[in-house]
Amino acid sequence: MKFSELCETYSKLEATTKRLEMTDILVDLLKKSDNAIIDKVCYLTLGRIYPEYVDLELGLAEKMVAKTVAMASGISQKEVEKYLAKTGDLGTTAQELKKMGKAQITLFTRELTVERVFETLDKIARSAGTGSQDRKVKLLASLLLEAFPEEAKYIVRIVLGQLRLGVADMTILDALAIAYGGGKESREVIERSYHLSSDVGAVAKALADKGLDVLKSFKIQVGTPIHSMLAQRLASPEEILEKLGGVCALEFKFDGERVQAHKKGEEVLLFSRRLENVTHQFPDIQMLVKDNIKAKKCIVEGEIVAINPETGEMYPFQVLMQRRRKYGIKKTMEKIPTALFLFDCLYVDEQDLTISSYLDRRKQLEKIVRETEQLQLSEKKIVKTVEEIETFFEQSIERGCEGIMAKSLDGVYQAGARGWLWIKYKRDYRGPELADTVDLVVVGAFYGRGRRGGTYGTLLMAGYEEETDMFKTVCKLGAGFSDENLEELPRKLNKHRIRDRHSRVDSNFEADVWFEPVIVLEVQGSELTLSPTHTAAWNKIKKNAGLAVRFPRFTGRFREDKAPEQATTTVELKEMYKAQLKQIEK
Ligand code: ATP
Repeated sequence: MKFSELCETYSKLEATTKRLEMTDILVDLLKKSDNAIIDKVCYLTLGRIYPEYVDLELGLAEKMVAKTVAMASGISQKEVEKYLAKTGDLGTTAQELKKMGKAQITLFTRELTVERVFETLDKIARSAGTGSQDRKVKLLASLLLEAFPEEAKYIVRIVLGQLRLGVADMTILDALAIAYGGGKESREVIERSYHLSSDVGAVAKALADKGLDVLKSFKIQVGTPIHSMLAQRLASPEEILEKLGGVCALEFKFDGERVQAHKKGEEVLLFSRRLENVTHQFPDIQMLVKDNIKAKKCIVEGEIVAINPETGEMYPFQVLMQRRRKYGIKKTMEKIPTALFLFDCLYVDEQDLTISSYLDRRKQLEKIVRETEQLQLSEKKIVKTVEEIETFFEQSIERGCEGIMAKSLDGVYQAGARGWLWIKYKRDYRGPELADTVDLVVVGAFYGRGRRGGTYGTLLMAGYEEETDMFKTVCKLGAGFSDENLEELPRKLNKHRIRDRHSRVDSNFEADVWFEPVIVLEVQGSELTLSPTHTAAWNKIKKNAGLAVRFPRFTGRFREDKAPEQATTTVELKEMYKAQLKQIEK
């Protein structure tokens, strides 16, 4: 397939913000892609070259790419940087410079194919060690030399991780259902294999090659992370019992970082809830799993918690976050020891347990784990009364946990879903403030005045709407920032700055600055109110009204463990609003 065809599609995608139009464009693209490269077409369109969990990066900083653009355009790097200052985007710069035609024309110009672009990017990502920067630059230059102006633009953007077509995994799944699944009815099967494989490309290829039936019997693979099952929330033990049919299992809700451990013989891989491979950050946890889990091949889930080495008490999540680092791991490991509390088991020795009940999964977990001081099963109790829930809750708080999880006894493992089979009940639901903190995505910002002159005064925050795969605004956030946060924020945010509102953001506000929806912050509010301007839960509670968080305050917690799609959803906000009304009625 010619790379120029892909670029044509990208221009069309850039010209629309409507999800249905995007889906149509993607259906066309997927239909005309050869089966052999359909996975690659998916990755490239998402602005990457592998599924998210693969721990490989292209590893070329903007300066290096600018140098390569200079080489390929036959002008000096200084000149490239001058253009860049004007356009603000190295992709457009590369395109303009190609158009001006200062490049050395190669004699035998051949048209770039998707295969060739992909293979070269793959080589760039894989070249490591001494001299690798030079090799990467040369490889990229070879592509840019052959590229037409528009192709150069998109290649540069992909290399810099700035493609930003507004296409998300879910939109590709929609398009796959139409192009190869026989229609929207196939969406559920397609989505399930996506959640089990975390790999849009693999799903696309299996579907295009072998049809929908092969996805129905999709097999999970040890070594490939599975999207985590998530929990709903409720504000009282009565509601929890009612929702779960009068009986449920309770577990402590540990305040740490979720991890999915994949064990195959002596080899253990650890994945975060965002599907990052975090094995190198937790050699201690890796060892624990290797030595104390008896199954040869398995996938288990649990929470890593930081432990006070002197008292054995649990530290809150913030302390554990110091373990998130690339360097100095051994030293931090000694300073901040951890424990792993296991609560689920998704696969044991060739047996897929995601379709088994909670009780069966738990039984398997108990069978394969040899408990030690550092590796334990989460506390578990089956209960039928409000009093039992209250008592278990108090015990969890005493133990240093943040609350409890109630789980349906016969519930399957719903990968990637936030359903009612797991319900969380936390300490802060009882406080005077909004029942719980919410995790919101930064989508824009307004310039500040006074002490915040020259930086952002308030941030425009949004919740995630699953139904439409969009981010809907819910408040302007200006409180709770320490001086340190204020310094840190622009550094984190500016990487994601874009010119216009992102196509997956729905806002009635015109922000001074827009961001890609990437950064998730934890926010505490006083209550939820109906809002004539914010778009979260629009028309869902009242006609022509959305929901707003009142008096929002940043808790200081960057939810780097969360992908934007894992932020608080608009359905959750709606539920919280309803729970709040009930509370007032009481
Ligand atoms: P919160 O912000 O309240 O921690 P969350 O949005 O991160 O919640 P939820 O899906 O709402 O995630 O809650 C489930 C999370 O709680 C899991 O991702 C996991 O990290 C953590 N957790 C702690 N203990 C347990 C447990 N026993 N069972 C399941 N999840 C647990």
